[in-house]
Amino acid sequence: ECPEGRNMMKFRSTLPAYKEKDVILNAISQNQVIIISGETGCGKTTQIPQFILESEIECMQGAMCNIICTQPRRISAMSVSERIATERGETLGETVGYKVRLEGMKGRDTHLLFCTTGILLRRLLVDRNLMGVTYVIVDEIHERGINEDFLLIVLKDLLPRRPELRLILMSATLDAELFSSYLGGAPVVHIPGFTYPVKTHFLESILEATRYQLTPYNQVDDYGTEKMWKMSKQTPRKRKSQIASTVEDALSAADFKDYTALTQESMSYWNPDCIGFNLIEYLLCNICEKERAGAVLVFLTGWDDISSLKDKLQAHPVLGDPNRVLLLACHGSMASEEQKLIFNKPEDGIRKIVLATNIAETSITIDDVVFVVDCGKAKETSYDALNNTPCLLPSWISKVSAKQRRGRAGRVQPGECYHLYPRCVYDAFEDYQLPEILRTPLQSLCLQIKSLKLGSISEFLSRALQSPENLAVQNAIEYLKTIGALDENEKLTVLGHYLTMLPMEPKLGKMLILGAIFNCLDPVLSVVAGLSVRDPFLAPLDKKDLAEAAKAQFSHDFSDHLALVRAYKGWKVADGDQTGYEYCWKNFLSAQSMKAIDSLRKEFYSLLKDTGLVDSNPATYNVWSYDEHLVRAIICYGLYPGICSIVHNEKSFSLKTMEDGHVLLYSNSVNARHSRIPYPWLVFNEKIKVNSVFLRDSTAVSDSMLLLFGGSISKGDMDDHLKMLGGYLEFYM
Ligand code: ADP
Ligand code: MG
Repeated sequence: ECPEGRNMMKFRSTLPAYKEKDVILNAISQNQVIIISGETGCGKTTQIPQFILESEIECMQGAMCNIICTQPRRISAMSVSERIATERGETLGETVGYKVRLEGMKGRDTHLLFCTTGILLRRLLVDRNLMGVTYVIVDEIHERGINEDFLLIVLKDLLPRRPELRLILMSATLDAELFSSYLGGAPVVHIPGFTYPVKTHFLESILEATRYQLTPYNQVDDYGTEKMWKMSKQTPRKRKSQIASTVEDALSAADFKDYTALTQESMSYWNPDCIGFNLIEYLLCNICEKERAGAVLVFLTGWDDISSLKDKLQAHPVLGDPNRVLLLACHGSMASEEQKLIFNKPEDGIRKIVLATNIAETSITIDDVVFVVDCGKAKETSYDALNNTPCLLPSWISKVSAKQRRGRAGRVQPGECYHLYPRCVYDAFEDYQLPEILRTPLQSLCLQIKSLKLGSISEFLSRALQSPENLAVQNAIEYLKTIGALDENEKLTVLGHYLTMLPMEPKLGKMLILGAIFNCLDPVLSVVAGLSVRDPFLAPLDKKDLAEAAKAQFSHDFSDHLALVRAYKGWKVADGDQTGYEYCWKNFLSAQSMKAIDSLRKEFYSLLKDTGLVDSNPATYNVWSYDEHLVRAIICYGLYPGICSIVHNEKSFSLKTMEDGHVLLYSNSVNARHSRIPYPWLVFNEKIKVNSVFLRDSTAVSDSMLLLFGGSISKGDMDDHLKMLGGYLEFYM
């Protein structure tokens, strides 16, 4: 054996999971379902599938063994399978492979396959008994993603039909009992972990250490602080719902005077609505001055704050100096070369700083982390069933998440963790995060239930680990009926059938299907890809006007979506001349988003080809691509019933939707630049409740377009149309 292989073997045997190998294999052989919990980094994902594989090979069953291990994200499916192949001294695609949407690496000899949960669900569509599969491992179940909860209902039904199939659930945190009782009292194996102590700082102690060196967020005297505190308590509370924040409730119930002076001070430094970039910069400088080696992991909420903080730090004399600091980002949409950099050890004397989303909380382990900075938030979608409005807001993490984040600092030696919020805020965090199935719209899920022929949607969902509110289920079913994917009796329509072949939001699928049928696919591909990535139109705060003007040159017709189509077209031409970056820079476009759009267009095209709706000759499917009127109609077809009416008054206009009343446009919408819009309606992609309801990307459409392309023509919808159109139909029919 090569020395490298021996080193790997030695490394593997140091992981806590290794000591439990026999216990785990024993439990698996004696039970159809087991649950394994153990701290992040203890070797669950990389080791346990290998233990099973090796034991099967030992008893000469290797050829019969087929292990599928699901991951909630594509990036972890890819990086984990690659890691295991390396540990085994193989190349990816031999024994170990992976499959994610439209990408994969697997061969005839692959017996251990990593895939996203979505891929396994799609496999169940054509192979409902998972014939030939001997083990299913569902990883990271503590995350309680909607797909994982869905998969569990399906697998629970499958177990009696496949008595020899083994199901293994793996979780980083200890809410294992919940899963155990759901699955008929399945045994739980816990892998005892070992972590070094982590010194914990809350905002109070950070401020004490940095006193007089920082400008507070809100420079106010004591009296002012207390006044502000009182005022913030008086702002009207939101209606109580499942998504109401317990943090806010707890803080507003508390009395400012009861806090210690230091806590009072830290509460006035602390701004619950933004992440303190100055404080982070200061902390990072401090850490860089320390003698102690070790990487820094900074938890932020998403791509946008990662990239703005990265810009800020890159301009800093120390933190931006590549000879002293290796500054990296870690988020779900990064490219795979970028991914590998995170695991590399920097040269001596260079401090590695990784700005990450909560993807680094449990699914990706960076070994050399010694310092953790935690902003206390994560971006998650939430959904308010009563108003039927999804919200995407950074929200407070749970105590479990905070503990996970802290634990990342103590994996290889004692570490330090800086929580950027006062201790009393931490005390107000929920113990666990609300599962996704209880806080997101359920349309795609309901469509999947129908396509897997799982019977009545509400009956099926009532068997979930935690069932969503009935109102949320009804809203989703209504939506699917409105867009014509389900008929009156909840049966899949032809459109619905095609939509289930396209793993994306139904509205995006609808546009693609129509773009294919009407032979104007090219611009529609851009629209759909554009809606699937981070907004490519940048709006840096200090150059807001310039950026908005740059966007406006792409728009002569009251549509953000068509502006994107033109921006992409221009980029594609420029990119061919190697000047893509310059083009982006000049036009305030994100080069990364443009590239993402480019590759998503290819992905979507090939998904569409699988449905049989397009042939492979671009000349055919692009006959009408020049016709922007048609594209506008298709946008309307997809985004309906996301519509609002435009009410003009003397100087400008206001917007109204049926559910929300008055709504506003984001300032970077091209439609926000006008005082008149010569159309009666806007269709929009997304509305987000912040304080008011805001519409992101919108396109103006005419009455006739809305009538012809809005939804299906069933009685119930017609009533809605009538309400919306204020009698317009009666007048014309
Ligand atoms: P768990 O699933 O329990 O969180 P993993 O099996 O993912 O743990 O990781 C076990 C250990 O393997 C980690 O602590 C880390 O030391 C190492 N490891 C995992 N992935 C990689 C990688 N891509 N590169 C280097 N080391 C890795
Ligand atoms: Mg893992």
